[in-house]
Amino acid sequence: MVTVDRRTMLATGALALAGAAAQTGGAEAQAGPKPIFPVPVTTIPIVGETDVFAVRRIYCIGRNYAAHAIERGSDPTREPPFFFQKPTDAIQNVAIGTVADHPYPLLTKNYHHEVELVAALKSGGTNIPPEQTLEHVYGYALGLDMTRRDLQNGMAAEKKPWEIGKSFDHAAVLGPIHPAAKTGHFTKGAISLSVNGTVRQDSNLDKMIWSVAEQISKLSEAFELKAGDIIYSGTPENVSPVVKGDVLLCKLEGLPDMSIRIT
Ligand code: MN
Repeated sequence: MVTVDRRTMLATGALALAGAAAQTGGAEAQAGPKPIFPVPVTTIPIVGETDVFAVRRIYCIGRNYAAHAIERGSDPTREPPFFFQKPTDAIQNVAIGTVADHPYPLLTKNYHHEVELVAALKSGGTNIPPEQTLEHVYGYALGLDMTRRDLQNGMAAEKKPWEIGKSFDHAAVLGPIHPAAKTGHFTKGAISLSVNGTVRQDSNLDKMIWSVAEQISKLSEAFELKAGDIIYSGTPENVSPVVKGDVLLCKLEGLPDMSIRIT
């Protein structure tokens, strides 16, 4: 009979398996590798709730208003939508009634605002039919898809990924989430952005080329969507540069305003 000593069992992993089986249900069963340092989870406050919305991924749709597609050099006809992502920790939460300091980012000399409706998902899936997508929406927020336009354009001109123009610290400015159970779903409504009191972007959600419902359906053809995913639904025309000291005021019909100061 072969005797297996403790060292051999460790080497083969057999002891770990035996131990796990023996400890099932006990406190030791939860023991395992732990992160060697803490990494914070990105969350978004929810209006009227003490609990918060944990963020999994940030998706953004590109060129979703015809007039903005034209100013970005695209054909505004109904081409398939395209999407990009921002890193989850790029979120800057902005509380209602405040003017949050927003740092002018590194590298750029042409920093643009893009005011957008943001949808936040409580569930997801793949290949979701458009008529079933809104049941996955937990709520909505007012957001700014901040963009280092010179870096984006420079990379696009070289046919390289324009991530550096879109995915950087604080690039995903966001008001709190309003549960759809209270606000309903947003398919129309005025959306605008002013800088130092002068209106620069002024449109209506009903001018979206792809509705939020259609965006979610299209996204789910490419990615498995899950609870915690948020979607920036595109910006209207007249994106333009901001400089240090500028105060941006975002408005969306049915939600409180959101404001930042570039510092
Ligand atoms: Mn955008």
